[in-house]
Amino acid sequence: MSDLYTDWYYANLLPLDRKVVQGQFKLNFRCPICGDSKKNPRKKRGYIYVNDKGTLMYHCFNCGYHTSFRTFLKENYPEYYRDYIKELFQNTKKQKAKEITKEDISLFKTESSLNGLTHISKLPSIHRAKYYLESRKIPVKKFEKYLYYTDYFLAWHKGEEIKENTPLDERLVLVAFDKDGKTPILATGRALKKGQEPKYLTHKFNDSKLKIWGLDRVNPKKTILITEGIIDAMFLPNSLAMLGGFIDLKALEELFPNSKFIFVLDNEPHNRNTVNNMIKVIQAGHRLFFWDKIDPKEIKDINDMVLKGYSKKDILLIIKGSIIKGLKGMMKIKLWRKC
Ligand SMILES: [Zn+2]
Repeated sequence: MSDLYTDWYYANLLPLDRKVVQGQFKLNFRCPICGDSKKNPRKKRGYIYVNDKGTLMYHCFNCGYHTSFRTFLKENYPEYYRDYIKELFQNTKKQKAKEITKEDISLFKTESSLNGLTHISKLPSIHRAKYYLESRKIPVKKFEKYLYYTDYFLAWHKGEEIKENTPLDERLVLVAFDKDGKTPILATGRALKKGQEPKYLTHKFNDSKLKIWGLDRVNPKKTILITEGIIDAMFLPNSLAMLGGFIDLKALEELFPNSKFIFVLDNEPHNRNTVNNMIKVIQAGHRLFFWDKIDPKEIKDINDMVLKGYSKKDILLIIKGSIIKGLKGMMKIKLWRKC
């Protein structure tokens, strides 16, 4: 009798090449049987996963080696297998090895809707997602909770199983949680390859929620800054980011009935969408940061300011010094827009 927990413990112990945890009871690595892939060092098609019966399995999409994890361990890692058997025997003596019911399995699957994504901390230090975060100067430690990665965002988004012919869609995944800080409500995949379209793809876990990142971070008693992108919001205090188009202003006001907002939209006088959103903000009586004389060719958003060397303090001073609203604000936008 195998025990899923013991199996999983040993699966993690094995020195598998380029091992990545893809969720509870799922590992991806370079297959030690066939060494896949010898031609492309980035490719790896060995998997350890749990089947519907609660048994940990081994499968390689290259050589087709397919067996239970226990047999895989016995045939390939006899030195580990000896300890494994000893441990199983002790477990059985202590108590009847915990039987995994179907219910348990579905629990593992729903326990976290983020299953299938790899947390940033599990990636090797030379990974392209880490390189991207670094290039945008994102303080990874501070925002670790929200940062994930997957090779197959599209398939994950659609709930499809990963097969050998599943097209790669490598994305940094930015997760938005509900006010409780635990329930994931959205996950935005940021394309990491040049030309990969769409650049941002948002997955919704729940239909009724506002498409907002940062609900678990804001203090409604203080002024809330609202940006277009999550990365921009990461550089501002008490901030929210709107995902996938414009925010539902009514829903926002209902969610934060007594809060004051400042919208910090992108510096895009040529972008009709952005300009229209600015107008909506003003029409609804909210305050808007006005980019004024900042050249959009130099700086198009908050992240650009950070990359150009502005400190957080500088940025806040600039925002506070250029807030518009009402009719005067509307006039300013009309003079500034280039579309
Ligand atoms: Zn193989």
